[in-house]
Amino acid sequence: MATIAQKTPMQPMQIANRRSRFQSQRTENFTESVIREMSRLAIQYNAVNLAQGFPDFPASEILKNAAREAIADDFNQYPMTWGIKPLRDAIGAKYQRTYGLEYDPEREITVCCGATEAMIATLLAVTNPGDELIVFEPFYENYGPDALLCGAERKFVKLHSPDWHFDPDELRRAFSPRTKAIILNTPNNPTGRVFDRAALDQIAALCQEFDALAITDEIYEHILFDGARHIPIAQLPGMRDRTVLISSMSKTYSVTGWRVGWVLASPDLTESIRKVHDFLTVGAPTPLQRAGVLALSLPEEHYAHLSADYVERRDLIIDILDGAGFRCFRPQGAYYVMADISAFGFADDMQFARHLVEKVGVAGVPGSSFFHDMSEGSQILRFCFCKKLETLHAAKERFRLI
Ligand code: GLN
Repeated sequence: MATIAQKTPMQPMQIANRRSRFQSQRTENFTESVIREMSRLAIQYNAVNLAQGFPDFPASEILKNAAREAIADDFNQYPMTWGIKPLRDAIGAKYQRTYGLEYDPEREITVCCGATEAMIATLLAVTNPGDELIVFEPFYENYGPDALLCGAERKFVKLHSPDWHFDPDELRRAFSPRTKAIILNTPNNPTGRVFDRAALDQIAALCQEFDALAITDEIYEHILFDGARHIPIAQLPGMRDRTVLISSMSKTYSVTGWRVGWVLASPDLTESIRKVHDFLTVGAPTPLQRAGVLALSLPEEHYAHLSADYVERRDLIIDILDGAGFRCFRPQGAYYVMADISAFGFADDMQFARHLVEKVGVAGVPGSSFFHDMSEGSQILRFCFCKKLETLHAAKERFRLI
């Protein structure tokens, strides 16, 4: 079974190797999220939080009003477990409109508590212990514990800097008869890579050759720069019914705390995913699903503005980081920048992240939390730029103290 490297240096509260008889074995091999821990440290040291990826600017008034109205109108009880019908209908219409993908709201769309629940519900629904899951590395840290909780084994395929491409031969070598699925996160967290058609064709061909699923995390689908285009792999020939497509409201509508996401999958897969989802959470918050109907029906300008606003912030954070002595990898999508820290001469990313949050007053995420071998991320920090321009400027001021 895969184990996740311990991250004890950032986690003084963690008591290593002292499991009481009431703590399960399955919680032994992973730690708390480093990303969320950095948010706690940012609060503790009053640091500018460029760690956990959530906006610090307000959500749209229209959406907030819709949520308030839903509560006032008494939409406050359990929703139908797989999502209120108007939201499933709105999701179906959105995928039809945006990507020409048809999903039946009755049998193929499930609303979950964010993409986070959607992913673990999916993995629990499709894997057996011993199955292999292919994961591109660096990876979003949740996929580690998700795989462990399912008893699945991860096989890593490197994304190579500076453009975070993968080597097709290495990808092929990762597939085996035990491969159940590949997890594909595009636009990618943490690298900002947007997988193009050629890359998706290679992945799709291998999924079909090895009879494997593509489980996609597409939550940054509308945050794209420099002409990059998001292509759901489900659109590719032969892939619709071997893809489990996951996305959410969090990043597209700047409401990460609402916890409304969804899974689109063929009826047989959906049946299993819905069973897990039902017993994990029953359902995502009813009034926020009501507001989601409005969100999913927003005109196209919403998405154009989202990318335009973020490209300005991306360019600003890169200027700021370059000016402070980092070396940045320029993202094509999502809202993170991977920054090389070797110029600062710290032993590793943990030490540097701690120095930054405690002494300088800026929180970033240690790069090692995105690698299974921590040493590989030891000269990288991830910063997010889904923040007000004034927050980014405040970080610039503080970086003078490095
Ligand atoms: N996806 C965000 C990040 O990578 C936040 C993750 C979370 O805390 N749920 O920072």
